Formats: sequence, structure tokens, C-alpha cells
Amino acid sequence: MDYDERRRELYLKKKRRRQAMMKRRRRFFGTLLFLIIVSCFLIFRSCGDEKEATPINKNITNEDNSPKDNFTVCIDAGHGEYDSGATSKTFDVAEKDIVLSVALSTGKLLSDKGIKVIYTREKDEIPWKEQTESLEGRSKFSNENNADLFVSIHCNYYKNSTDVKGTEVYCFEKETKDEKLAQIISDNLAKLKFTENRGIKYNSDKNLYVVENTKATSVLVELGYLSNTDDTVFLKDSKGQAKCADAISSAIIEYKDLITKEKKESK
Ligand SMILES: [Zn+2]
Repeated sequence: MDYDERRRELYLKKKRRRQAMMKRRRRFFGTLLFLIIVSCFLIFRSCGDEKEATPINKNITNEDNSPKDNFTVCIDAGHGEYDSGATSKTFDVAEKDIVLSVALSTGKLLSDKGIKVIYTREKDEIPWKEQTESLEGRSKFSNENNADLFVSIHCNYYKNSTDVKGTEVYCFEKETKDEKLAQIISDNLAKLKFTENRGIKYNSDKNLYVVENTKATSVLVELGYLSNTDDTVFLKDSKGQAKCADAISSAIIEYKDLITKEKKESK
């Protein structure tokens, strides 16, 4: 092999090495580009899922809402601050104050039994500027904290008659976990015998945002009518409020025990 041939062979070898290197580079950058595109697509899709999270399909979420180790109850005292809710015309009392007292006592009784409790508000002030924002905020708070139960506490008012009185417990719809919890709370409040038992009502009756949009097993409790004297006399009194809290908290414990038992039996 003369000098020129050796040079030519050397040159070809170098060329082949360079071509192989270019090929490897192209493959590397191609894979990199592919991975970037796939990642962007996945990130974009997960952002979209968050936006589409409401309204929640309660039928699905209710099914996998079985008790877990960090079982959490979200207690929602309705209204607050600029939003007084219902007010009595006979007594100087507002719904927002009655329900806050009942909510805090309910939560305390549950915490004493070792149950994790979170509150949408623990004082008069609320972080939301408008009532519509407040309803969304309450559901969001429960959803973000992964609560198992959401119990919203309110008082009722009927402007056409002062005779209407009684407790009502709202749930999403028939044959749901919501209904089961609502039934136990309703029965427990009825045992207090301070007013009529108006029973369970469904979301279709009133379209309650918090019942519809909260992932947890959710109910809304109407303790009684502030348009009715008997109901108001009982509810404005701290002893009456304590009795309501006792009835609600023991219903929650009973419900929790019931689903724990059901879960064990299904294993
Ligand atoms: Zn209310």
C-alpha cells in the first residue's frame, strides 16, 4: 500500500467515524426532542384536568370514600362576617353566630375522640369577598384537604309563616353515603325533641352548591327556623347549641364506625 492509498484509507476511516458520530448525535437529539414534546403534552393535559374537576360526579366519589387512617371531617359553619345568614325578627340573634358555636363544639367533641377535624372558619371573619365565592371556597377547602366528611351547619328561615319549624338535613341523592350520614344526623337531632323532624331532603330540592361540589360525603344541616320562636329560643341558647353539637358529633362517630365495619366485612 503506497502512501496515497494509506492516506485515502485513513481519510475514509475518519469520514466513517464522523458519520457514525453524527448519526448518534442525531438519534440523541431526536430522542430528547421527543421526550420534551411528550412531557409538554402530559403537563398540559394535567392542567386541563384540574380545570375540569367541577362539577364532581358524586356517585363515583362516594364509592371510594372509605375510612382511612387519617380520617378527616370538615366542619363548615355557614355564612360569617358580612353575611349574617338568617336573622330573627324577635330576638337579636344571627344564623352565623349560632352555627359557628355549634360547629366549634361539634369539632371539639370529635377531636376529643381522636378524629381529625378541619374548619372552613373558626371565627366570624371569612376570607371570601362574596357569598358565591364563599360557597366555592368552602368546597375547595374540603377537597384540597382531602376530607372524608363535609358537614355544613345552617339555620333556616321561612318568611311566609312563623309556624314552620323543624330540622332538615340535605344530602346529594338517594342511596348514597351522603344519605346514610344525613339519616343518622337527622335521627339524632330528632332525639333532642326540641322541634319537629322534617327529615332528609335532597339536592334536587334546593341545589346546594356545597353538597353538589364537595368530593367528601357531604351533608347540610338546617338546625331549625329562626322565623319560628320555639326553634329560635332553643338555638340561641348555649345549652341548645351544645345539644345540637352533641347530636351531630355522635352521628358522625356512628357513621364512621358503620363504614369501618362495612369495610372490614367486605374484606
Ligand atoms: Zn344558612
